[in-house]
Amino acid sequence: MTSATTVTSRSVCPYCGVGCGVLIESEGQRITGVRGDPAHPANFGRLCSKGAALHLTTAHSGRLAHPELRRHRADLRQSTDWETTLDYLCARFSQVIDADGPDAVGFYLSGQLLTEDYYVFNKLAKGLIGTNNIDSNSRLCMSSAVAGYKATLGADAPPGCYEDIDHADLVVIAGANPAYAHPVLYRRLEAARAQRPLLKTIVIDPRRTPTAEDADLHLALLPGTDVALFNGLLHLLLWEGKLDQAYIAAHTSGFSELKAILHEYTPAIVSKICGIREDDLRLAATLWADSRATLSLYCQGLNQSANGTANNAALINLHLATGQLGRPGAGPFSLTGQPNAMGGREVGGMANLLSAHRDLANPAHRAEVAALWGVPSVPALPGKTALEMFEAVAAGEIKILWIAGTNPAQSLPNQAVVRAALQKAELVILQEAFAHTETAAFADVVLPAASWGEKDGTMTNSERRIARVRAAVAAPGEARADWQIAVDFARRLERTMRPGLTSLFPYRSPGEVFAEHGATTQGRDVDITGLSYATLEAQGPQQWPYPAGATGGMARLYADGRFPTDSGRARFYPAQFVPVAEPPDARYPLTLNTGRLRDQWHGMTRSGRVTQLFSHVAQPMLEMNADDMQRRKLPAGALVRVRSRRGEVILPVTASAAQRVGQVFIPMHWGSAWWRGPGINGLTTDARDPTSMQPELKACAVAVDSANLPWELVAMTILEPTDKALADQRLAGFQAQLERFEYASCGRFGSVREGVIFRAAGACAPSTETLHAIEQLLGFSDPAQRMSYEDPSRGVRRVLQVEAGKLVGLMLAGNVAGQDWLQHWLDAGESVTGLGPQLLAPNATPPTGATPLSRMICSCEQVSERALELALDSLDAIDDGAYAWLQIRLKCGIQCGSCGPEIRHLIASRRAAA
Ligand code: SF4
Repeated sequence: MTSATTVTSRSVCPYCGVGCGVLIESEGQRITGVRGDPAHPANFGRLCSKGAALHLTTAHSGRLAHPELRRHRADLRQSTDWETTLDYLCARFSQVIDADGPDAVGFYLSGQLLTEDYYVFNKLAKGLIGTNNIDSNSRLCMSSAVAGYKATLGADAPPGCYEDIDHADLVVIAGANPAYAHPVLYRRLEAARAQRPLLKTIVIDPRRTPTAEDADLHLALLPGTDVALFNGLLHLLLWEGKLDQAYIAAHTSGFSELKAILHEYTPAIVSKICGIREDDLRLAATLWADSRATLSLYCQGLNQSANGTANNAALINLHLATGQLGRPGAGPFSLTGQPNAMGGREVGGMANLLSAHRDLANPAHRAEVAALWGVPSVPALPGKTALEMFEAVAAGEIKILWIAGTNPAQSLPNQAVVRAALQKAELVILQEAFAHTETAAFADVVLPAASWGEKDGTMTNSERRIARVRAAVAAPGEARADWQIAVDFARRLERTMRPGLTSLFPYRSPGEVFAEHGATTQGRDVDITGLSYATLEAQGPQQWPYPAGATGGMARLYADGRFPTDSGRARFYPAQFVPVAEPPDARYPLTLNTGRLRDQWHGMTRSGRVTQLFSHVAQPMLEMNADDMQRRKLPAGALVRVRSRRGEVILPVTASAAQRVGQVFIPMHWGSAWWRGPGINGLTTDARDPTSMQPELKACAVAVDSANLPWELVAMTILEPTDKALADQRLAGFQAQLERFEYASCGRFGSVREGVIFRAAGACAPSTETLHAIEQLLGFSDPAQRMSYEDPSRGVRRVLQVEAGKLVGLMLAGNVAGQDWLQHWLDAGESVTGLGPQLLAPNATPPTGATPLSRMICSCEQVSERALELALDSLDAIDDGAYAWLQIRLKCGIQCGSCGPEIRHLIASRRAAA
């Protein structure tokens, strides 16, 4: 308790796999604040920009609070009650299972669900219904890491822990940008480097990300060439006699087969395949050879690839051959993207897994699980993995699809297939907390789910640490916890499927679910028979394994060199380089990469509710090398059409030194709720790794041309006083207009107040009705306060709403180039007294002293890029003390630290220019 009315609850951040502990502050049934938990070993009190804004995501507007149901596709969904909804679902499931068998239903879950949620869903599908058609969006995130670990080390277990950063001599970051995607872990690396300047970092990434900017060596390899690079490094280490032959002899198998393959990966060949300098390859090998302890951190760059299993395994080969694991500071450490991707794997919540890391393909494992659950058998037929599941729906094989806590109409690749499947399904059930996801438009039944701050259970972070998630407030309306929804449905279905028998789902609390899950882990690598909610309460978050009788979790695995394989030895994997599934060609000459931004999360379902998280990057942009832009005569900010073999999108282009020539980048976050068209995944390919079935989200061939849309529109309004519900309502209005234009996007803006913005463009002006529809959405109620100028013949219309001498909203249609400064005026509440005619002029120039729009680098203290530039301008010379000086002067880079890499980059660019 922090005051008489404020209650503090300990929980976990629901965003990335770092799994930071949070202290949620609430008053009554309202979450009022969030702080990092100083006692949590994942973050010791730190939060990043996303985590620190979590309390701003909890408003009830835009939440699903009641079940909704439509019995026929042509109908609109109607609000109903749980009894009616669950009865309806039971009847439909029974019908379909009777007619077409259990494999005619499928469950698509999420790495955002808690372990208890996952456990119940898994038992419902595999234990009660008798189908293995249950998979999760973790398939898009971690399945190649799982396959890589199992193929080499014998089990799906990251062997290290975060503390290894404090002991490593060399940290290799491959296919990851933790400065943006795992920021609190990156703070730990920054601190380690500050304390131990001899700690070296190598970043392996086609893009020069903020993480790459900070590295001692950046290997900007060509997309999909990771295996060639790792094999090339191993070739050099072998040639130089730098391998740990004793470790290889004592603890591994299969090295001679790998050696035969390595022969081909000479520095010259690898340099050519990867597009990097031979000297840089040799330098990387030297750094690895000279390092006493090497830690590799890797993520989606290796995983989201049609060769993902080999990418992972080739890096693990390097660790095994040099004895770099099982010691402090050494090991191959896969970072999980989602907060509970690990928990989902632990309970076997995927199409090819069973409880406690058991394999579905193993008859003995199936028999064990059936015995534990008290059912005759677990089906042997492998379930459909994520992409296969949607393909099976599109083919009419799966008729009922239950989606929980994820948004496949935004996040799966090749959206044309996914959306066709959602249309084709006989019944789409969406269990979700938020109302306006892309997938909601396809749902026949909506089950309102509790969200962060309202749920009880556990999650496991990247370092195998299980932490308690606790509710601070009740869920809105009739929303229920995810595990509870699954149990309520399962108990009903049992009445028809196993009449008269004892329930398989007797749980009264998530703690009881956790206890049953724990019991299934006995004797497994993930043994947590020593853990209970009471232990976690008393000891705080704990790493697995934690068997009965243990007094603590295990920080590192494989210290004794014994591995969970039949021989007890780790296995070298014969990894071979395979080019990306869709290399560029004459028609599609560029390679599109996708990835995360610092301040947004996944499909923006949660982070898109926070205005300040739009201030770093306001809208989807195509990042392109300046040479590629020049070749196409594309000015910065021009709208471009990006085409792949599967679809096209239109968005502004920006020059980026982070992209090599021939490569472009679009952030993964914006889907069709925010942007006209299918979103980024209208372009991406569903080519996949044959073992992990993880799709190649990070490389597809595209063409980029000018969109030639000369007519433009921008409309925005700021709400004073701040009214979140009204802002959400206006935004929903904009979202409904997106498809009326050839290009359109919408979003939020505002540093202290809530603003909403709509941008559009077309080959010619739309109808006057369309323009009026947009204007109406701005809510300008008082005509006396409105100034306008119109030239309908050219589609020009400029409308300004001024209240008490301040601009509160505007719509500019026609030519909006160079008018960005008006957004800043709106946000800052600057007086416009006497500026009326000037503001209305079609090419209005900024008044003297007007501040141009500038993106926010420090979200915590609202420090813009321009403010940083002006501060640096005021210095006679920019030296090593510039960062600390900016921290004192502007207070940036102090609280969450997420802006640190970009501030350092700005300083470095200024110094280089000087
Ligand atoms: Fe949440 Fe940021 Fe921590 Fe990830 S690093 S868990 S997003 S606070």
